[in-house]
Amino acid sequence: MTDKELLDLAREVRTSAYAPYSGFSVGAALLTRGGRVFTGVNVENASLGLSVCAERNAVGAAVAAGQREFAKLVVVTDSPEPTMPCGVCRQVLWEFSHDLEVVVETLGGTRSTTTLRELFPLPFTSYREGEHGA
Ligand SMILES: [Zn+2]
Repeated sequence: MTDKELLDLAREVRTSAYAPYSGFSVGAALLTRGGRVFTGVNVENASLGLSVCAERNAVGAAVAAGQREFAKLVVVTDSPEPTMPCGVCRQVLWEFSHDLEVVVETLGGTRSTTTLRELFPLPFTSYREGEHGA
């Protein structure tokens, strides 16, 4: 699957984001190492701290389908510059895939590509690291 195809999926799913409080809709598409794709949108809540990012919702959908090895995450936002995953999402992504490529793009087409290792060089790791499979 190409970056453009993944970005098109993220762009499309973004229209389903539930963001009545921030007005900042986010769409994400997560590509597994086996070639499957899971999408997610941000889901906000009146109790703002309960809001969940698009990236983590995509991870949840993938894990619920038995997928835990990811190759690439793409995120689409309506912002002047591409929006990188937040710190919480970086930690959640790290749980499953250390070698994750991250592609973020604005609706206007400005794109930035990086890696999770670059975004998250010093992750929290438990003493049980290595028992999980990332
Ligand atoms: Zn996040």
